[in-house]
Amino acid sequence: EKYVYDFSEGHKDLKELLGGKGANLAEMTRLGLPVPAGFTVTTRACQAYLATGANPAGLAEEIDEHLAALEATMGRRLGDPDDPLLVSVRSGAAFSMPGMMETVLNVGLTDASVEGLAAQAGGDDRFAWDSYRRLIQMFGKTVCDVPGEDFSAALEEAKKAKGATDDLHLDAADLKALADRYKRIFAKHTGYDFPQDPREQMRLAMEAVFRSWNAERAVLYRRQERIPADLGTAVNVVAMVFGNLGADSGTGVAFTRDPASGAQGIYGDYLANAQGEDVVAGIRNTVPLEELERLDPRSYEELLAIMAKLEGHYRDLCDIEFTIERGKLWMLQTRVGKRTAGAAFRIAAQLVHEGMISLDEALSRVSGAQLAQLMFPRFDLSAEPAALTTGIGASPGAASGKAVFTAERAVELAAAGEDVILVRRETNPEDLAGMIAARGILTARGGKTSHAAVVARGMGRTCVCGADQLEIAADRFTVDGRTVEEGHVISVDGTSGRVYLGAVPVRPSEVVQYFEGERVESTLVEAVHTLMGHADATRRLAVRTNADTGEDAARARRFGAEGIGLCRTEHMFLGDRKELVERLILAGTETARNDALAALLPLQRADFVDLFRAMDGLPVTVRLIDPPLHEFLPSLEELAVNVAVARERGEEHSEEAQLLDAVRRMHEQNPMLGLRGVRLGLVIPGLFAMQVRAIAEAAVQLAAEGLDPRPEIMVPLVGAVQELEMVRQECEQIVAEVVAGSGVEVLIGTMIEVPRAALTAGQIAEAADFFSFGTNDLTQMGWGFSRDDVEGAFFWRYLELGIFGISPFESIDRDGVGRLIRIAAEEGRAVKPRLKLGVCGEHGGDPESVHFFHEVGLDYVSCSPFRVPVARLEAGRAAV
Ligand code: PEP
Ligand code: MG
Repeated sequence: EKYVYDFSEGHKDLKELLGGKGANLAEMTRLGLPVPAGFTVTTRACQAYLATGANPAGLAEEIDEHLAALEATMGRRLGDPDDPLLVSVRSGAAFSMPGMMETVLNVGLTDASVEGLAAQAGGDDRFAWDSYRRLIQMFGKTVCDVPGEDFSAALEEAKKAKGATDDLHLDAADLKALADRYKRIFAKHTGYDFPQDPREQMRLAMEAVFRSWNAERAVLYRRQERIPADLGTAVNVVAMVFGNLGADSGTGVAFTRDPASGAQGIYGDYLANAQGEDVVAGIRNTVPLEELERLDPRSYEELLAIMAKLEGHYRDLCDIEFTIERGKLWMLQTRVGKRTAGAAFRIAAQLVHEGMISLDEALSRVSGAQLAQLMFPRFDLSAEPAALTTGIGASPGAASGKAVFTAERAVELAAAGEDVILVRRETNPEDLAGMIAARGILTARGGKTSHAAVVARGMGRTCVCGADQLEIAADRFTVDGRTVEEGHVISVDGTSGRVYLGAVPVRPSEVVQYFEGERVESTLVEAVHTLMGHADATRRLAVRTNADTGEDAARARRFGAEGIGLCRTEHMFLGDRKELVERLILAGTETARNDALAALLPLQRADFVDLFRAMDGLPVTVRLIDPPLHEFLPSLEELAVNVAVARERGEEHSEEAQLLDAVRRMHEQNPMLGLRGVRLGLVIPGLFAMQVRAIAEAAVQLAAEGLDPRPEIMVPLVGAVQELEMVRQECEQIVAEVVAGSGVEVLIGTMIEVPRAALTAGQIAEAADFFSFGTNDLTQMGWGFSRDDVEGAFFWRYLELGIFGISPFESIDRDGVGRLIRIAAEEGRAVKPRLKLGVCGEHGGDPESVHFFHEVGLDYVSCSPFRVPVARLEAGRAAV
C-alpha cells in the first residue's frame, strides 16, 4: 500500500485519502499554481497508527524517499546547519475540523541550523531566533504535552524585563535567551532535551498529528457534527515559506466571493511582515486585501488571477490562505469555502446563471437546514449594536426580553405577560417550566448538545449556550465589567450566538414573506425561487402538511403543501369542547352518551368543512380521535382533594364524588400505552361513528357547492388487522349511507405507529387503502422512550456519551425504527402494490429523514406548515 503522495501525484477528489488540505494542495499543484513543494501522508497511515500505536511497515522508507525528493526540489536539506530546509507538519482531515487538530511549523530548526537560517535571511538573527523559539513552543505543546502556560509566562516575563508591550520589541539576543529558557522548560517537563535531530523532529510531529485525531476536543467536535470517528487525519509536510521576512513579505486570507452575502468581488485580509498564526492570534490588525494592490501590485495581480482560476476550476466560492515571501506569492491552502445560509442560496443561483453549474448541482449545494435558518425572523442589525458577548448559537431565532435568573421567575413574569430570557449557568430538568415560559435561553456553560441546547431545539425556543464570559450570580450576570440585573432587557441571537444589551428590533424573514405570496424584491428571494422551482420539478415525494384548522391548512397550502397528511382531531376537542368530551367519556347511560355525541357532531362537521375548503381538490387525511385519555379528564389529584375537603366540611356533592369514582376507574399508569386511538373507538360506542359521519357530511356539503373534497379517514394506533377490520366495517356503512349519490369518494387507511403493526403490515394492508407512518409513536414504542419525558430528562447525557448523535425523535433512526418502516412498506406493497404510503410524524419535516423516506419509496411526507418548504427542498435534493 502506498502511504505517501507527492503534491504532484494527488488531486481534489482524493479527500478521503489525502484529507481536504492535502487533496486541494495537490489540485493546485496540478493547476500549475505556486504551491510550496511537499507531500501528504495518507489517512490510512493514520488509521494504522491509531489502531496499533506504531507506524505501518514501509511508511518510514516512503517518507525518506519523498523527503529526499523534496530536498532535491528545494536544493536544501532538512535542518542542514548551513542552509536548512524547514517544513511545516500540518493536519488535514477529510472534513474540515477548524482548530481541532495540530500543526507544527519550522520543523528542522536546531541549535546548529538556527544560524544557517539567519544567514539565509540575510543575517536576520532576530527572525531566526524567533522562528526557533516558536518551534520549541509549538513542538513542546503539541508533541510533548508541555503546558502552554509555562511558555507564555516565560514570554511575558521576557517582555516585562525589557519593558516591552509587544513581541516585536524583543531583539535577537532576547529571543535567543528566550529559546534557551524554553528548552529548559521543555526538558523539565519531558525529562529529555529538545530533539536536535531534524528527522526525529519530523517523525515525532507527524505522530503527534496522528494522535491529535483523538484529542478530547476533536472527539467532541466530531460527535456534535456527526463526523465518523474512524476516518483519521492525513499529514501534510510542506516546505516552509516565510511571511515574516520584512515589509515585502506578509500573509493573508481571501474569498472569491463574499461568504456572507455571496456577492462577487475581492474579500479578504492581509497582514504585512507576519506569519499565519499571527493573523489567527489577532496580534496585529490586518488590512483589507485591496491594500495589497498598493503594497505589492505584482503579487496582487497574480493573486486575483489565481482566484479567478480557482473559482472557475472548482465552480464554487473558494477560500484561500497565501503567503508572500519577499515579493514571491505562495498558495498555502484553498478549499470550497464555508458560507452563510443566504450566501449558499445566492451563490448556487448565481453560478447557474453564469452557466458554471447545472440546476441539479445547485440544488445539491443548498440544504433544508439552511432554508429553515432563512425562515426565522432575524434581528435588524442596521444600527450596528455592539454585542455584549458571544456564545454558541444552539437553537436559531431572535428573542428579546427581560433577563431572569431562575425558572420560577421566568414562569411568574411570563404569566404576567412579560417576555423573558432565562439566564442560567447551565440548565437541568428542573428548569423545564422556565424554559417553556421564556422567549429565549442563555447559558454560560455547555455546547450544542448540552441540556439547554437539546431541549431548546426540541421546543423551537431560541437558545445561546456556552457564553463562557458570563459570570452569573443569583440575580445578575457580569460580562466585561458590565452588569445585567433581573429585569434588564437583553436580546439573544440563536443563529450567530450573539447577545445584546437592550431590545434589538426584529425583522420578519423575507423568505417567509415570499412563501406567503408577498412580492419581495431581493436576490435572496430570487435564488430561493429558482431552487425551490427546481426541487419541485425534480422530487418524487409529495409534501403534505399536518394541520387541524382551516387557517393552518391555508398557510401550508401557500407554502406548497399538496394536501393534509394528518389532522389530529383531538385538538378540535380542547377548550370549551373539552367538557362535551368529558361528558361523553363518563356517560353512564346510552342516552347521556348519545346526547353528548349529538352535541359534538355539528361542531366536528364545521371543522371539516373549513379544512376541506382550504384544501379543495387535495387529499385531506383526518385521523380519528387519539388522545391519551387523561388529557380530557379532570385531574385525579385535584378532584380527590376537592372531594376530601368538601367531605371534611360535611358538604359532599354526590355528583363530584361520582365523577371522582369514574376518573379513578379510568386512571392509567401509562396513558400513552393505554386507552388511546383505535382502542378508544372500540370501547366507546358511537365515538368514531360520529366523527366519520361528520367527515362524510362535510364532504357531501362541499361537493354540493361544486368543490372537490377528498377525505381520507385514518385509524390510529392499530396493532392488529382485526382492530382495523372492525372499525373499517363500521366506517364503510356510515360513509356509504351519507355519500350515496354525491360523487364523494372516501379512503380508509391506518397509521403504522405500533411496532406490531409494522411487523404484520402484510395482514394490515388487506384492510387499508393507505398507511401513514406515525414515527413519533413508532420511535417511542420502538425504543421504549417516553416521548414527553426523555428529551428533558436524560437525552443530553445520551448525546454526550455518543449513544446517538441526534435525538431519534428529531431525526429518524434508520437502523431500528427505519427498519420497521422498510419492512412495513415492503410487506404492505407486496400485498397491495398500489397501497399509498406516507409519514406524518415529526420526522416528515426533518431533512435527513426526508432522504430516508425517499429511499424507502414512500409517496409523501407530511409536516408542520413551516417545515413544508424545507421538506420540498430536501425531497428535491434526495431525487437528484
Ligand atoms: C405519530 O405518532 O407519529 C403521530 C403522527 O401521531 P401523534 O404524534 O399524534 O401521536
Ligand atoms: Mg401517534
